Amino acid sequence: MSTFLVAGGAGFIGSHLVETLLASNHSVIALDSLITGSEDNISHLQNNPHFHFIQHDISKPLPAIDKVDGIFNLASPASPMDFENLSVEIMKAGSFGTYHLLELAKKYQAWFMMASTSEVYGDPEVHPQHEDYLGNVNCTGIRSVYDESKRFSESLTSTYHRKGYARTSIIRIFNTYGPRMRINDGRVIPSFTFCALHDQPLTIFGKGTQTRSFCFVDDLVRGIISMEKNRPSIPINLGNTIEKSVLEVAETIRTMTSSQSEIVFHGLPEGDPKRRCPDLTRAKEILQWEPKISFEEGMKKTVEYYKNFPLHTS
Ligand code: NAD
Repeated sequence: MSTFLVAGGAGFIGSHLVETLLASNHSVIALDSLITGSEDNISHLQNNPHFHFIQHDISKPLPAIDKVDGIFNLASPASPMDFENLSVEIMKAGSFGTYHLLELAKKYQAWFMMASTSEVYGDPEVHPQHEDYLGNVNCTGIRSVYDESKRFSESLTSTYHRKGYARTSIIRIFNTYGPRMRINDGRVIPSFTFCALHDQPLTIFGKGTQTRSFCFVDDLVRGIISMEKNRPSIPINLGNTIEKSVLEVAETIRTMTSSQSEIVFHGLPEGDPKRRCPDLTRAKEILQWEPKISFEEGMKKTVEYYKNFPLHTS
């Protein structure tokens, strides 16, 4: 039985990870500022004696924390809507926040995992994206606050590893979806699902021909658990390789929810990548991992979750 710190543990992915770690009989401390997460995501765990929640912003010096064996850093706003609203907070989480958590890992000789993103590849010129691809990132654009803060986090994590301060791993997460994503955070799946359930228009930016690949959260968490078991030091992509156009996604969700929603088209936001798809060769070789859950199966669980929210919650 190990003790893990999950920074961002009250968020969408973080709360699923916390649940899985507890189910494997580990002790978990979730550290979260609740800036984009919610206590609702972890309220069902509060009576578990092996679970402890601390509300704290990782960009500020950390409170006293007892020895931990491993740290998962998922603490960062992640939605494109946050890139403007929470731009400075994102950069502080990726820089000061990652530094504080790495120092904690160094103190306890704990393993550290950085949750990075496919955004480090920017608007890629290579498909699918292999981990060795260095990316095509605009370092001053609107999306740069997120892309560059994750690139900085990766750089700092790699430095701590090279200096022998801590054993570290990096995952690059591609679009992941499932229950507990914020309804109103602007990401495609929660927005389309919620709107479709309430017969509200589904807004597509651009023509909808841009493709995305979507990984269900249970698959992703299985990959993260395998990262902890294998602890590789090189970055690893985690995601799904099945590409779908945004228009196709809208139509699938409309059908699954028997929705009357119309599809409306708006201009494409700055820097929106036209295509993103992971090369999973490394994940298959090192983690013996690949996603198993089909889009339809994952969406069934996701639709069920969003049915619980009335229209005024958006
Ligand atoms: P989320 O917003 O639901 O979770 C992030 C959590 O971190 C939230 O609970 C938030 O309150 C917390 N947080 C943010 N800044 C913090 C800070 N300074 N101190 C403490 N807590 C803070 O988003 P998510 O989709 O669950 O993303 C989790 C991680 O995975 C993020 O680091 C994100 O960049 C990464 N990621 C997610 C996706 C995806 O498709 N969901 C894709 C790529 C990368």
